Amino acid sequence: MRPVDKGKSPNVYKNWKDARNDLAIRLGWYCSYCEMPVSNMLEVEHIVPRNHGGAPLSWENFLISCKYCNTIKSDNNTSRDGYLWPDRDNTDLAFNYSEKNIIEPEQENGFIEKAANATIKLLGLDRRPGGTNEPTDADTRWILRLQAWLIAKLSLENWKKLPDQNMADQIAKTAFGTGFYSVWKKVFENEPQVIDAFIKVFPNTYNEKDEHLKRKIRPGALI
Ligand SMILES: [Zn+2]
Repeated sequence: MRPVDKGKSPNVYKNWKDARNDLAIRLGWYCSYCEMPVSNMLEVEHIVPRNHGGAPLSWENFLISCKYCNTIKSDNNTSRDGYLWPDRDNTDLAFNYSEKNIIEPEQENGFIEKAANATIKLLGLDRRPGGTNEPTDADTRWILRLQAWLIAKLSLENWKKLPDQNMADQIAKTAFGTGFYSVWKKVFENEPQVIDAFIKVFPNTYNEKDEHLKRKIRPGALI
């Protein structure tokens, strides 16, 4: 899950639906949770559900989501507590994406592992054929994610043949069109030049580091 920096609200909203394009321009046309590219059905998602006291019109409480993540999440969380959120946590460090198309906690580390698992369950990110949580016919997230895996792996072969900046930039553009940032990051995990190109091309990817080059932990974050 790509960590993002939403920045300050660009507008005051009378209806939360009006925030959709501002969010998509700031964060890219991807679901904040499953990272699927969505061009026409993105929904403004309230992190803390409105019926659990979540602010209905506050930019701070918005992310952008595909229909599937939004529907599965519904009002099943009562606050941000106990979960990981891409606008607060270094979510890219908390989940592992494997070639078998499985998303699972990256760290076997008490509360972070627990929060990562809770987040996966909240959004149904463990839905895949053959797993314990079978996808519905309508839920295409796993199929498009699998496609991103295939394209990313072919791109890695191209990179190994010609590892220069033009190729890094071209692969980043392909990733931008394909979506699923975390899949690309995983496939290119040993290629920092390409990872840097991904961070540049996906809008407002959070990547602030401290003096030891470790990712800065934001206020309230678990990781
Ligand atoms: Zn989604």
